[in-house]
Amino acid sequence: MMINELTRNQTLLDQQVKRESNARSYPRRIPIAINKAEGIFVTDMEGKQYYDCLAGAGTLALGHNHPVTIEAMQKVLHDKRPLHTLDITTPIKEEFVNEIFSNLPGDFAERAKIQFCGPTGGDAIEAALKLVKTATGRSSILTFQGGYHGSTHGTMAISGNLGPKKNVQGLIPDTHFMPYPYSYRCPFGMKGNEGHKISSTYIENLLDDPESGILPPAAMILEVVQGEGGTIPAPIEWLKEMRRITSERGIPLIIDEIQTGLGRTGKMFAFEHAGIVPDVIVLSKAIGGSLPLSVVIYDHELDKWEPGAHIGTFRGNQMAMAAGTASLKFIKEENLEKHAAKMGEKMLSALQKLQLDFPDIGDVRGRGLMIGVEIVDPNEPQSSSGSYPSQPALASRIQRECFNRGLILEVGGRNGSVVRLLPPLIITNEQVSDVLNIFERAVKAAVESL
Ligand code: PMP
Repeated sequence: MMINELTRNQTLLDQQVKRESNARSYPRRIPIAINKAEGIFVTDMEGKQYYDCLAGAGTLALGHNHPVTIEAMQKVLHDKRPLHTLDITTPIKEEFVNEIFSNLPGDFAERAKIQFCGPTGGDAIEAALKLVKTATGRSSILTFQGGYHGSTHGTMAISGNLGPKKNVQGLIPDTHFMPYPYSYRCPFGMKGNEGHKISSTYIENLLDDPESGILPPAAMILEVVQGEGGTIPAPIEWLKEMRRITSERGIPLIIDEIQTGLGRTGKMFAFEHAGIVPDVIVLSKAIGGSLPLSVVIYDHELDKWEPGAHIGTFRGNQMAMAAGTASLKFIKEENLEKHAAKMGEKMLSALQKLQLDFPDIGDVRGRGLMIGVEIVDPNEPQSSSGSYPSQPALASRIQRECFNRGLILEVGGRNGSVVRLLPPLIITNEQVSDVLNIFERAVKAAVESL
């Protein structure tokens, strides 16, 4: 392609800065104008190719423009199906529901109801909150430090990150933040993996203490692997405890699988690692096969809300349902969740090896293809749990060095100090090696530039 003024990256980026909102986020750290995309790759306006290990913030399970999703979308158009149906049913929707339900744990699938939501994950979380509040007649919500559930008033209220919260008054009240088992920065200052036991003891005590200050909650909501909070996988034992504690007290457990769902962590749903069954599952991102779609799936006993209790215009995106069905089938047929587990292990062990050479890498963790590398300052004193303070400037430097070398990834977590890898599940063994190679060179360059 001829590069001229209109096709330069910088022209589009300048226009974006001039015209788009100050609230824009990713382009500030990932200054690219994307022209084309296929599989794990995106290509900018000037023909430079990048590995995309952000993949729509974990949305693109099959990468960009996968043939099975494209074919499904084209078929919808070719067959002159409706593109938009509110929540009116269609054969495409029927097939999508069949496919999703066939992937749920058997006993849950039999008891499950599904609510189609406005297309974002945040809207589905909003729906889940309303569902449990209505069903229980209660108002308080137990959520977790470091949790992320969206950017609306309600979802921001139950999310940890104080940055965007501090300027928005009047978020929903009666949300209570519990300590998440983050072993590197243990909220109880414990070394190793012991903190999760204190977390569950604390939560159980709080629920039984008549002077806890917190009324019996309408639900507990959690991510099995906290994503935006810094890629923090919860220990299996802790997850089992959360299920036991909530079950014994009749508290609905909402599992936010928006980022972890559909194979990313090495199982179709991340809660399966713990062998637990939630009362409510919230799904978005990957389920639309790269198009916007979100659902809440829940135990029919909670189905107490009135007709029209959660509505919204864009709940009938047929292309998304068709692409989602195709993605789900492909993931299952190709055993992509097992592949994700294998590729994830390879990445994790290579990064753990890299950690030995770079003391600025404080922690490497993950489950499947959801991996976080926490960047710290080893020259500062350690906390009682053995962690060093975060070093966000170096994390962004690493991100920038990766970008310059053709690798897109995101930073997140506490103080933006966790470099996060969320590649599509179709990443090949060879591509994993390439990504690791770029990452290693980027870390080296970033550290040397200090
Ligand atoms: N929950 C989790 C776990 C997420 O990762 C996200 C998005 N990053 C959301 C909820 C919100 O989804 P959306 O951005 O589509 O509203």
